[in-house]
Amino acid sequence: MLAGGRIVIVGASLAGLRAAQTLQEEGFDGTITLIGAEPHLPYDRPPLSKELLAGPLADDEVYLPLGALDAEFRLATRAIGVDLQGRNVALDSGETLDFDGLILATGAHPRTLAGLRELDGVFVLRTLDDCLAMRARLAPGGRVVVVGAGFIGSEVAATCHGLGLEVTVIEALPVPMVRGVGELVGRRCARLHADHGVRLQLGTGVIGLAGEDRVEAVVLADGTMVPADVVLIGVGVAPATEWLAGSGIDLENGVRCDQWCRALSHGEAVAGVVAAGDVARWENPLFGEVMRVEHWTNAAEQGRAAALTLLHGQEAPVFDPVPYFWSDQYETKIQFVGRVGPDVRVVDGSLDDDRFVVAYGTEGRIVGALAFSRPARLMAYRSMIARREPFPDPGAEP
Ligand SMILES: Cc1cc2nc3c(=O)[nH]c(=O)nc-3n(C[C@H](O)[C@H](O)[C@H](O)COP(=O)(O)OP(=O)(O)OC[C@H]3O[C@@H](n4cnc5c(N)ncnc54)[C@H](O)[C@@H]3O)c2cc1C
Repeated sequence: MLAGGRIVIVGASLAGLRAAQTLQEEGFDGTITLIGAEPHLPYDRPPLSKELLAGPLADDEVYLPLGALDAEFRLATRAIGVDLQGRNVALDSGETLDFDGLILATGAHPRTLAGLRELDGVFVLRTLDDCLAMRARLAPGGRVVVVGAGFIGSEVAATCHGLGLEVTVIEALPVPMVRGVGELVGRRCARLHADHGVRLQLGTGVIGLAGEDRVEAVVLADGTMVPADVVLIGVGVAPATEWLAGSGIDLENGVRCDQWCRALSHGEAVAGVVAAGDVARWENPLFGEVMRVEHWTNAAEQGRAAALTLLHGQEAPVFDPVPYFWSDQYETKIQFVGRVGPDVRVVDGSLDDDRFVVAYGTEGRIVGALAFSRPARLMAYRSMIARREPFPDPGAEP
């Protein structure tokens, strides 16, 4: 067991914080140092597209409670490299920090669209500062164009609609949220926007932005100009691994990890280096799959799991969760457990209702479930997935 020395955590957000808190709870009595590129102490990102963007939440209510954490924070400081042999991390301040244990928790960066001009009024939404800058530009009656109908884009569309703005969502794929929820439910999500009078243009690419200094319109592939005062580019995220290039750590759409969240180098676990949260791509034994999950609960749970591995090695439990996420859009709470599978069946209610549950299966086994405003019911399906139960018949009790 690693009992003393220094543990460096790169990424001072949810996964990093949960890791630090776990180290302390488990009795680690060395030094814990968190390096964070942002100037802020750890805060919660889900309100950035919901309550904080809408306004009812005060700016300082987004911070995550630190509890009795006794750790050193190096904020507004970026890690720029790691030396696995020398056991140290290089910082953009010019310093290097030696470590006995290292936790990689750098999350993800928003993607942008290649070739778009930089104009005032165009935003991405990942950080508190992004949210406050965008919020300052949302005036009732204004026109918002959201590029990308994934979770963040759909939530921002719903929030802006609630603020009295005129909203258009442009999505290159024929169905919104299709990667996250599949085609059947994606089509149902399209109706959520339509039911609220939010315009959704599907199967349409964006090729440019029009305006002098300030954005005036979004230009579509067929030449159509969609007038805009504010534009959100919500086209997904990429794991923040650029600073690890050349370190020897295996990077495959994230930090490649084993079942214990140990970072791999040339396929072998690196002693004393683990990863957690949106940046980690690990082998989940429950599904026999390598996955990377970009959601809150996973970041919190994996931060804890990675810290336990650092302290206890392979005596720590493997990390085999049923992934979970929620998304609030208009009055609907969308919740999802597990993963999407090729077989899809409505198991509770009907897609014509406001409340229903859909199950996803593969090879006769249930692997996922999604609910519209049916929280208690969904959790029963979560247990079925964890128990590797058969794909349920329609109407069968979970
Ligand atoms: C607007 C928004 C809404 C969301 N809503 C939901 C929701 O409703 N439900 C849900 O389940 N999930 C939601 N999520 C996802 C959830 O917030 C993320 O999964 C979670 O924040 C991931 O935590 P993390 O600690 O892994 O990474 P992050 O929260 O991304 O934190 C990583 C930190 O590392 C820092 N960093 C990066 N590189 C370096 C470096 N080289 N050196 C130092 N620091 C570095 C970053 O600046 C950042 O502060 C939402 C996310 C966003 C952006």
